[in-house]
Amino acid sequence: MPELSTPITDQWVLDRRGPRNDVDPDVPYAFLVEKEFSHHGTCDDVATLFLTNRECPYRCLMCDLWKNTTTDRVAPGQIPRQIRHALDRLPPARHIKLYNSGNYFDPNAIPTVDDPDIANLVADFDTVIVESHPNMVGKRCLAFNDMTTPEVHVAMGLETVHPEVLPRLNKRMTLADFEHAVKTLIENGMQARAFILLRPPFLSESEGVEWAMKSIDFAFDIGVECCAVIPTRAGNGATEALASLGHFTPPNPNSLEQVHRYGLSRENGRVFVDLWDLQHLQRGSDADRAMYDRMNRMNLTQQIAGADDA
Ligand code: SF4
Repeated sequence: MPELSTPITDQWVLDRRGPRNDVDPDVPYAFLVEKEFSHHGTCDDVATLFLTNRECPYRCLMCDLWKNTTTDRVAPGQIPRQIRHALDRLPPARHIKLYNSGNYFDPNAIPTVDDPDIANLVADFDTVIVESHPNMVGKRCLAFNDMTTPEVHVAMGLETVHPEVLPRLNKRMTLADFEHAVKTLIENGMQARAFILLRPPFLSESEGVEWAMKSIDFAFDIGVECCAVIPTRAGNGATEALASLGHFTPPNPNSLEQVHRYGLSRENGRVFVDLWDLQHLQRGSDADRAMYDRMNRMNLTQQIAGADDA
């Protein structure tokens, strides 16, 4: 494990940031419908809304979600307005993701007073998926579940189970915290989804693969229903600073496919890989396009594709 001359603190991360994007608290900063293999075993349409709200209070080393957030708390009523805005423009879908670049259950992000309106707006979906830091899974989460007709799934960043890298990510979370949140969700009839980083800072390519696999194992062993593996990307200032010091290199797409195959081979739950930053593969060589198509198909079928499948 390479040493850093300075400890990673909130200020270290903040000092390396660039500017935010302009966002409007009356509209989500993005919304779309895409296919996803559901926990029912069907490939369904999922509406994903990227809600505009106040920045998450954590300062994780690799996070770039702050770019599309506000510095001030949004007013009560603005989040339901954003949801209506997106649903009025999207085709029908069976499930809905309300992703807010942070923690749904943070009252400074989504005003608690809006929960009943939000529950009404999502009442016709089968599943509502929100995201949260594990330490914010508490009373509000249970109350939201009680007032919500669809099944509630909570997506949380496990990131990595590497014992030295996880503390360095400045996430202020232990594996025990994560496990406690998963148990709380399950005991109360909800499901947990884990975000796992492929090759976070401080790891070599082979270590990145090894620890992503170990993270999938941990997640499934404690009851997580779905793992989403995300290739760690540069772009938030801190990751570029670490790259210039030799502490960070983005992972190879081949490693993502390797981890995807491993996760699916466990047959313990759904495993998705995030292809959003790998669209360029579709414009690359025949081998690149074939690799992208295999991972996309494995996402949509949850079946391991043959290595030679185009
Ligand atoms: S808790 Fe999530 S949203 Fe908040 S800084 Fe960390 S990774 Fe980003």
